This record gives sequence, structure tokens and C-alpha cells, in this order.
Amino acid sequence: MLAATSAPRLDPKRRNVLDSRKRQFAKPAFAEQTYPHRLNFYNVPPTGDISLEEFEEWGIARLKVLGELEACHFRNRSPAETEEYMKPVIDKHLRLSSNMSRSSDMEMERKRDHYSHWTLRLAFSGTKDLRERFARLETQLFKLRLQRDDTRERKEFIESLPMAWEVVGEDEKRMYMDELKAATRCGRDDEEAWFKVDWEKVPELVERRQVLLKRGSAFVHVREQMSIVTNEFARNLETGLELAARFLPRMDEDNRLAPILHHLSQSFVAPDAGYSEASSIGDISTPTAASINGLSQHFPLCMQNLHKTLRANNHLKHFGRLQYTLFLKGIGLSLQECIIFWRKSFKNITDEKFKSEYQYNIRHAYGDVGGDANRRGRGYTPYSCQKLLTEAPPSGGQTHGCPYRTYSPDNLIGLLQSVGVSDRTLLRDVRDDVSNGKTRYHIACNRVFEHAHKAQLKKVKDEDLWPASELDTILHPNTYFKRSFLLKNLGKVQSGDIGVDGPTQIKTDD
Ligand code: SF4
Repeated sequence: MLAATSAPRLDPKRRNVLDSRKRQFAKPAFAEQTYPHRLNFYNVPPTGDISLEEFEEWGIARLKVLGELEACHFRNRSPAETEEYMKPVIDKHLRLSSNMSRSSDMEMERKRDHYSHWTLRLAFSGTKDLRERFARLETQLFKLRLQRDDTRERKEFIESLPMAWEVVGEDEKRMYMDELKAATRCGRDDEEAWFKVDWEKVPELVERRQVLLKRGSAFVHVREQMSIVTNEFARNLETGLELAARFLPRMDEDNRLAPILHHLSQSFVAPDAGYSEASSIGDISTPTAASINGLSQHFPLCMQNLHKTLRANNHLKHFGRLQYTLFLKGIGLSLQECIIFWRKSFKNITDEKFKSEYQYNIRHAYGDVGGDANRRGRGYTPYSCQKLLTEAPPSGGQTHGCPYRTYSPDNLIGLLQSVGVSDRTLLRDVRDDVSNGKTRYHIACNRVFEHAHKAQLKKVKDEDLWPASELDTILHPNTYFKRSFLLKNLGKVQSGDIGVDGPTQIKTDD
């Protein structure tokens, strides 16, 4: 009613404009897309419906793949090693079946791939650094997939691309044959194929003098096609990311998507990894308060640092206690043993003080007290690397967080040496990971892990004892612990001394 009495009169020209907009929205173009090819240039944004959970879950899965690709790069894996390492990772998180497979999941896999790319495109368009990293990793992923694609399907995909190239016809080939052979270093005349592109599309080939230039066109040999397609993919994506960056402020107003996008962009510091109960050793042995000293040799640096500080000061500040309690809970330490552990560790306080000031918080972390919601959820979950790497850094006297991030490079090296890391090359690489604005904290941590378990890792790989998924990048302190524990006890686990006839009491050195 209010609208009827107060509606302003529109001049006819403006009415036309509004009408055309109305027409545009009258038939929204939101529709499911089809995916005739396994590969995608992601030129067209997705227009179907997905739930918020799918939006986030698919983005996280893609992030795991990109994170592993980046880790391969930082660990100087060769292209062949990267391809071998990435195959099970891609198959697990971002599988793309070929048309030949006739898999019933094929359309869904391609949809997930398409949507997750666009989700991350939005999440990582905010800063130049994020855009560059995202474009580099996506291009690497595209290249890996392009190389692995079935030859026929790859050809069909390439032919479907809106790329301005033209196959060199027989007449032109005959006319320039000698020059073509000389410029592109090819042998036989009749079986070779070339195509023409604008020379600006292939600057690397022009620079390497591997093309014939004629009137602004570059004559390129067909074997270079994959690198041209990959370069075009990178260029398209870089432009797309610039556009997304301009669009991003509008996304901030969407209070459903903005927190998810923020969480995903945080995940580029270290991909998120949830705690899995499989990280506990409760099923193969029984950790006790007395065995924590012995077990601490398997702790990652964040927890070793807390353990050392606790032993040195007989005390830890609140956030350090919480971080450490949750970690101990995650390795399988029971509530009763955890209380005993803290009581014995706080040597300078009375029983009353311990009970009134500390015990409640330990029980709360385990979900033993604190209301139904906390108990149902069995308390708090052990913190992941991502949480420890992105929370507020510790201030005076606090020790929580990840030392790879919170310590200066010099102090970090000192801390590593104090826990027995002495290899000079390793220390140099770790310093490089965290110096001059580099933030490869979890990569540095994985480096230290791999060095400390070099022989055991070689054995499980050579003898195919563990699935590849058990050897991916560590993203959770509890995963670090469990993997270290199993690797260092590999012989005992294999011979049944640990974990065959039920939980075993771990020897203590207290
Ligand atoms: Fe701990 Fe993760 Fe940091 Fe390693 S990277 S020290 S496991 S928080």
C-alpha cells in the first residue's frame, strides 16, 4: 500500500532501462553446466546451486592438493618425483575421471573441480601475494593434469579452446619448409605439423628462438602446444584474479560467504587439517603421566618447546597449558593420567592451589565438566598447525603457538639445536624457510621430521609398508607425533611387540 501511494513517476526512458533489467532477471541464467572434457580452463564461473558446506568442503579439498604441490616445490622435488607424489593426493582429493572410464561420478568430480577452483579464486584474490601463489599452483596443477590426460581426450580438449591459432596449411608448409625446419629444429618434412599464433602469445619460444616469425605470426611446432596451452591458462587466470580482486569488496557484505573465504585464505599459511582420533596411540599402547618424558622425543617442536619450558619452570602459562593438554589428550593420555602429569609437573604449588586453579581447566579440556554441550563434544579438539600458526602470537613469558613462526630465525635455530637438530644443511634450509618474509613454517617442520626419520621413511617407501596417504605433508602436531612414534617403533610394530595383543605399557624414563 505504501508503495502504491508513494511511487514516483518514471520518465519513459528510465522505465525502458528498468524494464530491460527486469527482463534480464526474469530468466536467471542459473543452471547446471555440463563438462564434456576432463580438463577445464575455468573461463566460465559456475552457475548451479551448491550448499554452503559443499562450497567450503570442496575448497578445502582443493587447497590440500595445492598445499602438497607447493610442498613439493619447496622440497626441490623434480618434475618426475612431483608427478609420482601428487598422483595419489590428486586421486584422493580432486579425482577427475576420463571420458573413457564411464565412471558414474564423472560429472560430480568435474563439477567439484570447477566450483572449488572458483571458490579459491575468490578466496585468494585479496592480495598480490595470494594471487601470484594461487595462479602459480593452479597452473602447475593444470599442467600435471594436461600431461597425464589421455592423448585423444587431450587433443579434443585443446581443440575446444578459444585459442587464436591456425594450423599451417600444406601450401604454406611447402613454401617455408626450410626455414621452418631450421627455426623449430625438426627433421622429417611431411609428417611434421605446425600452427600459427600471434607472436605475443609465445614470448618464451620467441626468446629461445624456437619459432619462425612471419608478419607478426609465430610458426610453432606442434610439440610446443602443451606449453602454449599452459601459458594461456596462466595468463587467463592472472587476468581473472585481477577481476575477482575488484569484485571482492562486495563479497565482504555477504555474511555467509565472507567467513568461509577468510578461513580458506588463512589456510594458505598452512592448509587446515582436522584432528583425527587415529592420531592417538591409545589402541597400540597406553601413554601415562610417567611416560610423557620418554614420548616427548616424538613431539614436534611446538610441543617439545612447551615440555622443555614446563620442566625448566615447573609451570606453563594458560594458553601453553591448554595447547599442551589438548595435544596430550590427542595422543591418548587419559584424563586421570593428565591430571597426575600436571600435578607432578607443577612442583612448586600446593595440592589445594592445583585443585582450585588448574584442575578444572584440565577436566574442561577433556569435556569432563563444562555443561552438556562441552561434554557431548568430549571437550576441545587438539589444535592443528593452522590454528597454531594463525592465532595471536605469544607475549611476555608465554610459550604457546608454533616456534617456526613465533621465534626469530636465530632463536629458532638455537631451539632446534637444543633439541638435538645439528645437521648444518637442514638448519640452513630451515632458516631460509622462515627468513626474509618467507612463511614456510610447516614446510620447515616437515623438513625436520623427514630428516629425523630419513632411514625409516626410506624403508616404508621401499618396502611399500604404508599407503602414500600416510606419508603426505604433516599439518597437525598429533599427526607428527603418531607418525614419529610408529616410524621409530617400526620393528616392534612389525614384530607384534607393540599393538598386537592390546595396549602395551610404554617404558618410562622418569
Ligand atoms: Fe607444531 Fe605444526 Fe608448528 Fe610443526 S608446524 S611445530 S607441528 S604447529
